[in-house]
Amino acid sequence: MLTVRELLLRQDKGDISAEEIISECQKEVSIRDPLIKGFIYTSWQRAREKARQIDQDRARGGDRPPLAGIPVAIKDNLARSGEPMTCCSRFLKGFYPGYTATAVSRLEKAGAIIIGRTNMDELAMGSSTENSCYFPTHNPHNPDYVPGGSSGGAAAVVGGGLVPLSLGSETGGSIRQPAAFCGVYGLRPTYGRVSRFGLTAYASSLDQVGPLSGNLEDLWLVLKEMAGPDELDATTLKEPLKGPEDPDDWRIGLPREYLEHIQDPEISRRVQEIAAELEKAGVVVEEISLSDPTRALAIYSSIVPAEASSNLARLDGIRYGLQSDNNYETWEQFIRENRGKGLGEEVRNRIILGTKLLNPEGEEDFLARGQQARRELKEEMQAIFKEFDLILSPATPTPSFKMGSSPEHSLQRFMSDIFAIPASLTGLPALTVPAGLNSKKLPLAIQLMGPWGSEGRLLGLARLLERITGYGPVVNDTEREEPL
Ligand code: GLN
Repeated sequence: MLTVRELLLRQDKGDISAEEIISECQKEVSIRDPLIKGFIYTSWQRAREKARQIDQDRARGGDRPPLAGIPVAIKDNLARSGEPMTCCSRFLKGFYPGYTATAVSRLEKAGAIIIGRTNMDELAMGSSTENSCYFPTHNPHNPDYVPGGSSGGAAAVVGGGLVPLSLGSETGGSIRQPAAFCGVYGLRPTYGRVSRFGLTAYASSLDQVGPLSGNLEDLWLVLKEMAGPDELDATTLKEPLKGPEDPDDWRIGLPREYLEHIQDPEISRRVQEIAAELEKAGVVVEEISLSDPTRALAIYSSIVPAEASSNLARLDGIRYGLQSDNNYETWEQFIRENRGKGLGEEVRNRIILGTKLLNPEGEEDFLARGQQARRELKEEMQAIFKEFDLILSPATPTPSFKMGSSPEHSLQRFMSDIFAIPASLTGLPALTVPAGLNSKKLPLAIQLMGPWGSEGRLLGLARLLERITGYGPVVNDTEREEPL
């Protein structure tokens, strides 16, 4: 799959039409998605109509919209009017939202063409996309391995070269962790940078929409179109987005406590190698001390289930979702039956935990402690970014793991998000930067985390890294013989 920039250039030269791009994309998806299983829904007819419209407008002398004819896949928790949205939960099967997420409608307005919806862990809870009500998605680099999650489908279809770009969402790493596992870029924008309108809420004070792409420049092209204030989301930022900046006398912090949680020697070596390359290029890299990231994990584990329990209360089978046809005497029985049937175990567990956290009833108030610790974490980050321009760390403690090997205990499953969660809790932007393959040909990646509003800085350093390290995204678009 060509990059966004290349697809635009080719259209400008008259080498290819938007309609041809969509046909090519459809061909690729039909041949190769049976191996990856990244899509749960495709909308080729609608896509082709839109492409034809774009081609016709241009033939009549109209300007080329900034993302004309670019095929984009969206995660199944982003609403698009006229299309089912299930969040890969049995509970929401058959639900058609009557509105479109702002992030999606802005891309469409810019000429992008939504071609389908991608697989995810149910209601965005999980780290491997094995927790979808449909089927698991496979890692495009090795089908025995997971693509990460919860935006696993969105990462796999980009890492497999089916589309140049996808939209994911994250609460605690659901863009960055799968991007790392699939060898692509994945950006968590500053909280409020991209409107959450039309994104199914998980934990609203952390949720963000963000792009995944196999090319750095493309990330910027799409972020520019999506970002900005939206009257439908009161938390959106008014501050203008700054473009990629050149590292100039930058100081990069490498947190010791993060390095200690790496569980894979190849990741350790790659991080050190990248830090050394940066130093050679004249960027100062210094080891720093931050609070242990397991602390962030503990904070996350109190705040997130509590918010989820309250957000998902609307999934009662009355306002939304599966409705049991049995007769019940009480509302409580009715709702219990609906939720019990429709929601998967992971989701139910988190709702129960969250409900408990919201009603401590004489027990220790973990939620209040979590909120306090979250404030302290914010202060710690603010202080460190007074001295340092960015923080460099590994993206994950291990590369992708084998399907079916997720740890039993959900706290252990969270370990693969351990480096992602501090930015999520503090609202800071962070970027997964792919860093080549390991000896098993699985992707490795690092993470850059920046102060509030510093997307341009993240992209600037990533650009330098691509140039000096020779590592970069790894898109595997070779055909495989056997469907899975
Ligand atoms: N794996 C984490 C969780 O299950 C992150 C999910 C997310 O960011 N949506 O909560």
